[in-house]
Amino acid sequence: MNSISTDSELEHRLQQEAENRRQAFWHTLLALDAAMAAELYRLPPDEWADYAPLAGWPQLQPLLKQLRQVDAALCQWQLGLYGLCSDCEAELTRAQLLADPCRQRCDPCEQKYRKAQHGAWEL
Ligand SMILES: [Zn+2]
Repeated sequence: MNSISTDSELEHRLQQEAENRRQAFWHTLLALDAAMAAELYRLPPDEWADYAPLAGWPQLQPLLKQLRQVDAALCQWQLGLYGLCSDCEAELTRAQLLADPCRQRCDPCEQKYRKAQHGAWEL
């Protein structure tokens, strides 16, 4: 059993991060297209990133990527897999997760991942 999944401060931090990213996303969309923002608001927030019409807004893509990261982290929390490196399954430290609740990789795997991406930031 991973002790992180009973850590309420970390859970709070993750929920807060999800809330912040969803607020930022929704307000950006509201400025671009108020009708679409109203439409999106009726969906559960964990379905926002998959809402197809959003693909038509290139400027939303970095924010959508952030939403997907936070959705993935929340899902991992529910499965009891939160805080494990997605490549080698090493446990991330509490300090790393408090700094970035959506962190997916330990330092060595993160470095390998970035090298493999050749400096590109796209998934
Ligand atoms: Zn790793």
